This record gives sequence, structure tokens and C-alpha cells, in this order.
Amino acid sequence: MGPGKTPHFLGEETARGLEFFRDLGIQDLFLDTPSVPSLAAGSMPDLPALQRFLAGCPRCKLSGSRTNIVFGQGNPNADLMFVGEAPGRDEDEQGLAFVGRAGQLLTKIIEAMGKKREEVWISNILKCRPPNNRNPESDEVASCMPFLEEQIRLISPRVIVTLGTFAAQALLETDEPIGRMRGQWRSARGVRVMPTFHPAFLLRSPDRKKDVWEDMKKVRDYLASPQG
Ligand code: URA
Repeated sequence: MGPGKTPHFLGEETARGLEFFRDLGIQDLFLDTPSVPSLAAGSMPDLPALQRFLAGCPRCKLSGSRTNIVFGQGNPNADLMFVGEAPGRDEDEQGLAFVGRAGQLLTKIIEAMGKKREEVWISNILKCRPPNNRNPESDEVASCMPFLEEQIRLISPRVIVTLGTFAAQALLETDEPIGRMRGQWRSARGVRVMPTFHPAFLLRSPDRKKDVWEDMKKVRDYLASPQG
């Protein structure tokens, strides 16, 4: 392999190193990649420790295309947690969950419930943006779910609202359609879950806002009740 034939994905130095081994007659090289520690459930003392553990995460292929990891943000002692699908472009750029147009609508929904954004926790199933906002893939969900589970354990919310089909199906481990699940209390990881529509869907179908409002009234009333 001459210098002119260096594949574009290799640096000059790496390519020269490989040529050296080839000239010695070595055909195969086995790379010893450093192992990435997996997250042991219940091992993190608090959210900042979890965020540090996640920093620079290489556990799935989204690490190659993301700009920022979107850990989630809000009140670490929130009684209400919102879980969306995955960061979009704005979230990837800013490293914050739900800050684009769908996020602005989510803020209005939260405020209509009588709360402020800073009072709740806002997060996603995936912490990194899938390229071109494609659907999350199962290996990505498997890599990322322990981080959401640890957030749920540390925050210990009284209610989780899942936003959209994907978040509900992933958290509840079901393939039921969102149209059937929304508005019905479910349970995951010992926490009450209220599936509802995704705010991005509401931007396309504003006539469904009333359904989300019905669902959010159930959440608001439960949190205000003695058992909530
Ligand atoms: N959509 C999501 O599901 N999550 C975000 O953070 C933004 C848009």
C-alpha cells in the first residue's frame, strides 16, 4: 500500500504502521480494545456521579455521530418525570432535553399542570441523537436503558409520563399502540406511568392536544391526592 493509497479513514501514521507489519509478512492483527465499564444497577450515589459515569460514553454506535450526550435535566427530587424518545437536532447541539419546538410545547403542557419546567425531571430513553432522527434501534435501547433506570431509581418520582409511542413501548416493554395505552395508568420499575402523545405529534395534529390534557389532568390530580 503506497502513501497515495492510504484509505481515507486511516491517518498516515496508522497506515505506515500497518505497512510495516505487512512487509514483515504479518497478515492478521488483533486489536485489544479497552473495555467499557457497564453500569451496575444501584451503584451510583447521585445524578452528578451518574452523569460523570456516562461522560464520553462509547457504548453504542450513536457515540460516533452525536455532538453532546443529553443526560436530562431538572429537579433531582422531582415527583414528576417526563421521558421522551431521543434527542433531536436542537437537543444534540445544546446537550439539553426537549429544547426545540416540541420542547416548547412540553413547557406549556407542564405549566398548564401548574408546574414549572425546573420542578420536574425531563429525559429520554436514548441519551444520544440517532442520525437524521431515525428510530432508535434495539441495541441502542439496550445500551442506554440502564442509565434511565438509574435516573428513575435516584430521582424516585411518583409519576413518569412517557411521551409518544417509542418511550411508552420501550419503558413498558410492550408493543401496544400508543392510541390504546394513552390515558391509562401503567407501572414500570415500581413507578406509576402515564403514557401520552409526543409533543412533536401534537405539533402535527393539534386536535389531539385535548387528549393529552385529559391525561395530564389525571397526573395532576393523582399528585395532588393524599395517595399521590
Ligand atoms: N423529542 C424527544 O423525544 N426528545 C427530545 O429531547 C426532543 C425531541
